This record gives sequence, structure tokens and C-alpha cells, in this order.
Amino acid sequence: MRDSNCIFCKISGGEIPSKTIYEDEEFRVILDISPATKGHALILPKEHYANIYEMPEETAGHAMILAKKLAKHMTEALQCDGLNIMQNNGEAAGQTVFHYHMHLIPRYEQDGNADKLCWNHLELSQEELEEIHQKLSL
Ligand code: AMP
Ligand code: ZN
Repeated sequence: MRDSNCIFCKISGGEIPSKTIYEDEEFRVILDISPATKGHALILPKEHYANIYEMPEETAGHAMILAKKLAKHMTEALQCDGLNIMQNNGEAAGQTVFHYHMHLIPRYEQDGNADKLCWNHLELSQEELEEIHQKLSL
């Protein structure tokens, strides 16, 4: 299903033009309009899923397989030194467009960004760690 108010539905469906670098029945891959680095691309499913929670497992799997192929292609074509793959779910995680998308960010030595995604490191007690371990163990 598409969402008529969603910009990424319009882009993935071809209604709004984009710099497309790959397309198949399930996905369109476009250049980000406000890139972190040269070559920053976004994998967009053509169906509307707001985030990873809404997306079927099969589609999530296909997105990751496509990311793997594009990582190789982009690294060869751009001669970049590395590549970040990231995907934000929910406002608290930095998501601003609520149609699932995966970021492919080529990285270059001294490209002006931090070497890795930044977060503060928490110092947790053994009890806190144990509580989280219990909650998360499947
Ligand atoms: P996120 O913060 O993970 O939701 O990322 C949204 C990304 O979409 C940002 O990197 C934006 O620069 C990018 N973006 C927003 N609108 C467009 C657009 N019309 N075409 C291409 N990229 C876009
Ligand atoms: Zn959408």
C-alpha cells in the first residue's frame, strides 16, 4: 500500500523525480537530497511501511541483501574508504521521514564527520546490566 501524503511513496513510485541509482519491483534507491557525504544513498521500499516494526521480515531481508550489493558497487564506483549503513526508527532515534529507508553513507578519510556514530557511554551497575540481560534474552 502507498500513502498519498508520503513523500517517499511519491518518490519510490516515480511520481516525484529523484536521482535513482537502482530500481527493481520492490525497491528504489535514490541519492539523498541533503547528503552526509558524496554518494549518500537511500534504499526505499515501494510499499509504505513507516518503520522496521511495520515491515514484513521478508522485505527487511531483501533490503539487507540489496544493501550488501550496493555497498560493494558504491565502494568500487566511488573509491570510498568505508561505508556506514544505518536506519532510524522513531523520532527518538532521529527518524524524520516516516517511510522506512536505509541510509548507505560512503565514508572517506577525513570527510569531516565523526569516525563512527556518536553516543555517550553509560556506566551501568552489574544489577542494571543483569536486569537488561534478563529482559532481552530470547
Ligand atoms: P531520517 O532522518 O533517517 O528519517 O532520514 C531522512 C533522510 O531523507 C535525510 O537524510 C534527508 O536528507 C532525506 N530526504 C528528505 N527528503 C528527501 C527528498 N525529497 N529526496 C531525497 N532525500 C530526502
Ligand atoms: Zn510512504
